[in-house]
Amino acid sequence: MRKKIVAGNWKMNMDYNEGLSLFSEVVNMVKDEVTGQQQAVVCSPFIHLHSLVQMAKGYHKVAIGAQNAHQAESGAYTGEISAKMINSVGAAYVILGHSERRQYFGEDNALLAKKTDTVLANGLKPIFCIGETLDERNTEKHFDVIKSQLEEGIFHLDEAHFSQLVIAYEPVWAIGTGVTATSAQAQEIHAFIRKEIAAKYNQQVADNMTILYGGSCNPKNAAELFAQPDIDGGLIGGASLKSRDFVDIVK
Ligand code: PGA
Repeated sequence: MRKKIVAGNWKMNMDYNEGLSLFSEVVNMVKDEVTGQQQAVVCSPFIHLHSLVQMAKGYHKVAIGAQNAHQAESGAYTGEISAKMINSVGAAYVILGHSERRQYFGEDNALLAKKTDTVLANGLKPIFCIGETLDERNTEKHFDVIKSQLEEGIFHLDEAHFSQLVIAYEPVWAIGTGVTATSAQAQEIHAFIRKEIAAKYNQQVADNMTILYGGSCNPKNAAELFAQPDIDGGLIGGASLKSRDFVDIVK
């Protein structure tokens, strides 16, 4: 059985106190209401990580993640945060390759391959994001784009490292737009990703890989999306900033 995960991506939202109160609501609701084996992951700005880890201590249904890490181990990179630093505060996950990082910060597959190596070497699990733009879908390039993101970003890993990953399929046209992929569109790509993993590694690795859907996921559409055979949960932006909505999606 592969792991079911709903990860919230707060992006650059929430000052320190706002983040703490949102998170304490989330933890309390998850404790009271979530009965299954699924895990909630909260990916906050760096400033919250240490406090959130402390607040979630001893409670295995909520894990904490960062939204980015630098590819170098350490050094003269003013303003950057390393994977080792993230690990040292007790976070477990790091989002890598989010489309906003690819678009606004020029992160390409080659850089993301390095970041993936560094994050894994520091004992963290990447939530590795892939997805096509609207233009790429309209010109029927979406399968090719997904394939090269996999091949150039993460298929260099050996099986043991690859198995540590979580993959998130996020069509860029669905992120923050209110336009979600239909469950059939999302399932088609998730099945394709799993098939590519089986071809590169083996069926068991493919069957065990948690593949999340992201892009305008909300409490109304989550159940149908997550009921698809190859969709194992979600990566949630806007709706993760409201405790009620986020926990409803987790449920
Ligand atoms: P959204 O963002 O849920 O606000 O569309 C998803 C994401 O960017 O991970």
